Amino acid sequence: MRFNTKLVNNKIKDDYGATNTPVYLTNAFEHQTAEDLKKVFNNQAPGYVYSRINNPSINNVEQKLADLEGGKAAILSSSGMAAISTATLAILEAGDEFIATSSLFGGTYNLFKSYQDYGITPRFAKGVEKEDIEELITAKTKFVFLETLGNPKLDIPDIRGIAELCKKQEVALIVDSTMTTPALIKPFELGANLVIHSTSKYINGTANSIGGIIIDGGNFAWTRFDNFSNYKRYGKLAFSAKARGETFRNLGPCASPVNSFLNELGLPTLALRMEQHCDNAYKLAKFLDDHPQVKEVNYPGLEDNSYYSRAQDLFNGGYGGMLTIRVGSQEEAFKIINKLEYFYNLANIGDVKSLVIHPASTIYTNNTKEEQEKLGVYDDLIRISVGLEDIADLKKDFSQALQD
Ligand SMILES: *Cc1c(COP(=O)(O)O)cnc(C)c1O
Repeated sequence: MRFNTKLVNNKIKDDYGATNTPVYLTNAFEHQTAEDLKKVFNNQAPGYVYSRINNPSINNVEQKLADLEGGKAAILSSSGMAAISTATLAILEAGDEFIATSSLFGGTYNLFKSYQDYGITPRFAKGVEKEDIEELITAKTKFVFLETLGNPKLDIPDIRGIAELCKKQEVALIVDSTMTTPALIKPFELGANLVIHSTSKYINGTANSIGGIIIDGGNFAWTRFDNFSNYKRYGKLAFSAKARGETFRNLGPCASPVNSFLNELGLPTLALRMEQHCDNAYKLAKFLDDHPQVKEVNYPGLEDNSYYSRAQDLFNGGYGGMLTIRVGSQEEAFKIINKLEYFYNLANIGDVKSLVIHPASTIYTNNTKEEQEKLGVYDDLIRISVGLEDIADLKKDFSQALQD
């Protein structure tokens, strides 16, 4: 089955012939005998026990997303941040180090910084090239974490080169592909070991529920790390076994079966939506690039963008649905946001609706100026998540908002 067919196809096992995944709103699952429940609890028989650990509605989305990415197992969680914290805490222990690119989503950057309170050292690379990562690797490094397309810096790491380096150094590679989705990039084919998404964004599509997923490529020898020694019998799936059986189960960031259903509803139209997001974003970027009031447009699909050729190499024909512009001052940025009529002023991305935000005074308000600049955030920067409206309307709206 090819990608678009997989997106639409939902061959679930259901006694009544349902073609959408039934939503199992139950906390626990009954088993006929004490012996049966014992077996399920001890992983000696398949089955469900308690919805904090797993649930058939959720399991269906997990398998679907694992299949779409080309992974071997997955854990759906209550949010993207829940997926990132669960994945990283399943691997790390006090004394460890890990490396992350600097241009991270604000929440991820703040989470990683907080790990210092627990004796774990995050090392933030100065750039997204292989050399920037290589110079930070030590014997204590457990993984490298990067975003396929930095939010909001829109830089694109040398994923091929970094994956090669990680493999050579026996360090895991974790890729947050929220901004690209499996419609634009397949990180496992490039050498990633775990792929993470905030499903709240493009996967969900209509911004109706928060969710996240960790997908395991089943392609890393986790048991080389001491804290995986109890998971040797799971082989290459040691990460998934530990993450679900320990970290996820103990922390409790499970998804609601209703949210799981809502996230699944977005999947059949994912490729179609991504195509339109990318097309609209490209056209709006071109338009704003030619506009005298706009000082700078950052969009990897513009031919003069520093990441243009890397986007062509790594992405499946599109350049993503986000762009940023710089307009001279915070005052000017506020004026434009306030004048826009079709763009919603809110903190989200990946909706079918077009969205704008002034990141410096909102998402990054608690970061220092220095941190903000590292993360690609400036006082005069507007972040635009381009939706599926008619492009003529989006251009018209910016035209009037940019007028003095
Ligand atoms: C939104 C986002 C997250 C966090 O996801 P939530 O679902 O909001 O917790 C992580 N990474 C990226 C790139 C994001 O855009």
